[in-house]
Amino acid sequence: MIMALNGKNAIVTGADSGIGAAIARGFAAAGAVVGVNHVGPEHAAQEIVAEIRGRGGQAVALKADVASESDVRAMFEAFIGDYGRIDIVVANAGVQQDAAITQMTLEQWRKVLDVNLTGAFLCAREAIRHFIEQGIAPASRATGNIIFMSSVHQRIPWSGHVNYAASKGGMAMLMESLAQEVAQRKIRINSIAPGAIKTHINQAVWSDPEKAREMLKLIPYGRIGEPEDVAKAALWLASDESDYVTGTTLFVDGGMALYPAFRANG
Ligand code: BGC
Repeated sequence: MIMALNGKNAIVTGADSGIGAAIARGFAAAGAVVGVNHVGPEHAAQEIVAEIRGRGGQAVALKADVASESDVRAMFEAFIGDYGRIDIVVANAGVQQDAAITQMTLEQWRKVLDVNLTGAFLCAREAIRHFIEQGIAPASRATGNIIFMSSVHQRIPWSGHVNYAASKGGMAMLMESLAQEVAQRKIRINSIAPGAIKTHINQAVWSDPEKAREMLKLIPYGRIGEPEDVAKAALWLASDESDYVTGTTLFVDGGMALYPAFRANG
């Protein structure tokens, strides 16, 4: 097996389930020390950590609310205090709070923007501060590497989910502007835009046969994605194999962003 992340330390936010958990497992299997961030109860994160350690990898659970400036700062300090440096950050934590516009509360709007967009900003800012302070990374070509977990909805408008789509649209410009700002320091920043991936966030859709059939009409490649589909893309973006890639969004969506409704129309 190629240990593409040997000698690197990574924090993955929202890593106690779904896409984040798959990335944590994948990074650890590739040789990284992984900080498994979670905001909910400890047990799910501890299970991932135990599983990684059981396979000979290195991981630690890190409790922090990514929307809290002091939590994010404390999480980075604790991890770096224990492991010496940070090389890779995957700003993956995200939530949905769906409602028609006439019903959407300010609280729902703020919650989604706070976690998805402000959380990405806070984690990226903290990471970049540490990357600059640490200087050259011994185990990689880049000084630091950030991956944002965006969505096809950074491009595809989504009725009934304006808070979520706005957070991901904002993330696209956050990512590109940051990438432009720090590229000369050899810090790479990219996004992954997953389509429909089987996680708890959309379980109500894929676990209902009728709704799953409707969802599949939106996916030219003909299957709903698995968290591992995204984890493999994240591993490539986190490794030196993608060293010349920065400021880009990698769509991992089975073609969902290709306007499949136009196959027989328009
Ligand atoms: C959302 C999922 C949705 C998918 C495709 C994701 O970003 O979180 O709920 O199934 O986009 O629409």
